[in-house]
Amino acid sequence: MPDRQPTRQPALRGTAQGSASRTPPCPWTGADRPPGHPPSWRKRWVLLLNTTFEPLTAVPLRRAIVLVVCGKAEVVHGDSAGMVLHSASASLQVPSVIRLSNFVRVPYRGRVPLTRAALMLRDNHRCVYCGARAETIDHVVPRSRGGPHSWENCVACCTKCNHRKADRTLSELGWRLPVAPRAPRGRHWRLLAGLSDADPLWLPYLGEPAA
Ligand SMILES: [Zn+2]
Repeated sequence: MPDRQPTRQPALRGTAQGSASRTPPCPWTGADRPPGHPPSWRKRWVLLLNTTFEPLTAVPLRRAIVLVVCGKAEVVHGDSAGMVLHSASASLQVPSVIRLSNFVRVPYRGRVPLTRAALMLRDNHRCVYCGARAETIDHVVPRSRGGPHSWENCVACCTKCNHRKADRTLSELGWRLPVAPRAPRGRHWRLLAGLSDADPLWLPYLGEPAA
């Protein structure tokens, strides 16, 4: 039997919600959650880059490993915990970022949907008003005052500023936004919008935050 356990037990973070991979059982990751693996192991996601290093999407870890093992992608960044998977005859660094061997053309698909995860990523998980760690989303023009739920009117915010601001406008408070919020550009944002979190190792590949 191949040893399917990672060489050391990492502090795995669940990084995504949504549908699980329907790929066939993989000899590297096991048919299902291997004994001893935390549930988040199966929820690990890997950033997939085009040959040009343009981010395309995030894929489940199992799919990423299949792509690498089949020679369709190479590992650009290994997992920050340095985890290694073993099969009977080889070992493979657990990837955080992989790059396709062949270029794929992806059609442009318009405006990125606004999700909490994508908004937090756009604002670097920092409160736009004070720079503290953001825990919530603030509507710059409060919804009670007709403010829309849009990229241009939503910002990452800490609970303290959110409570202080309440249903007042920035001019009423004398507050200012450092940068006008806007929708992030780049089609990968659409694909990342479905994730609840992103590996910090991905950030250099995601481009400059839009706000
Ligand atoms: Zn704040």
